[in-house]
Amino acid sequence: MEVAKNKRDIRAFTKDQLRSFFESQGDKAFRGNQVYEWLWQKSAHTFEDMTNISKETRQMLENNFVINHIKVDQMQRSSDGTIKNAVRLHDDLIVESVLIPTKTRTTACVSSQVGCSLDCKFCATSRLKRMRNLNPDEIYDQVVAIDNESRLYFDRPLSNIVFMGMGEPLMNYNNVLKAIDKITSPEGMGMSPKRITVSTSGVPKMIRKMADEEVKFKLAVSLHSAIDEIRTSIMPFNATFTLADLREALEYWFQKTKSRITYEYVVWDGINDTQKDVNALVEFCRFAPSKVNLIEYNPIDDGEFRQANNAAIEMYVNTLERNGITVTVRRSRGKDIDAACGQLANKS
Ligand code: SF4
Repeated sequence: MEVAKNKRDIRAFTKDQLRSFFESQGDKAFRGNQVYEWLWQKSAHTFEDMTNISKETRQMLENNFVINHIKVDQMQRSSDGTIKNAVRLHDDLIVESVLIPTKTRTTACVSSQVGCSLDCKFCATSRLKRMRNLNPDEIYDQVVAIDNESRLYFDRPLSNIVFMGMGEPLMNYNNVLKAIDKITSPEGMGMSPKRITVSTSGVPKMIRKMADEEVKFKLAVSLHSAIDEIRTSIMPFNATFTLADLREALEYWFQKTKSRITYEYVVWDGINDTQKDVNALVEFCRFAPSKVNLIEYNPIDDGEFRQANNAAIEMYVNTLERNGITVTVRRSRGKDIDAACGQLANKS
């Protein structure tokens, strides 16, 4: 049997393409369904795993294709139960994903790019330049790995997914969407799209596109400031995608989807911790039902950004609640294991 020089990535094939491939080999099209099931529903790492396929066919697949499965290279467990995976890709690049357990749910925080093209000053990932987008299967594999860990360590399946790891998911929109298709398909993991949140730093054009495509997952925006000058100083791309543009795109999103918008927001000492900052936030998000997650900051090494004190957080909570905006305060998880975005990959 001949071995192909450039083996193709079998998970880049649709089910129909696999069916046609088997037909072209003089086999039954149905063989394509079987292999597809092994690749996605059963997450096979090797052709050898495909036990209901004949040995000869497995060898033929081996000769022509590769399965570029991710490998969890390093797993860290925090004393609070959080698990962080450093994930090695087939080209030896590293991304990370995190399992965050609470009493009632297990959430996977996954990466969408290797590094990031944006440059948020408070983020460890921004120090790694964007090397490439993740393929749909690499995103899917991160979720499967965390689902397995959730079953192993917490005796329950994964319940939620957030795209809040390395990278800006809307800058890798097509692959993120393809991964979500597989995650939600009965031929993949069969999860409800309502349990998936795509968290963006705010790319107006792509938010409109998502609205037009009537996606079923949830949207979160990492806002961190509703004052242009301040936001641009901590998220420089805000000079291009201004708050006015972002707000217009979000209004469009809400008109189309009627779906509540979540804002992720960190309050930093001396940056956005005044009454003026919270008033601007109220003004920014009052056009639609909104929820603000005040996230505790997990500092990156040089300590330029420090979490604001409790009084500032209380001011935020009180003002938001008084204005009818739902607010939650999220404790930082996995502090003892470098669980801030990009920290583990930076060290690998
Ligand atoms: S916070 Fe997100 S968008 Fe900003 S640099 Fe980090 S990974 Fe990129």
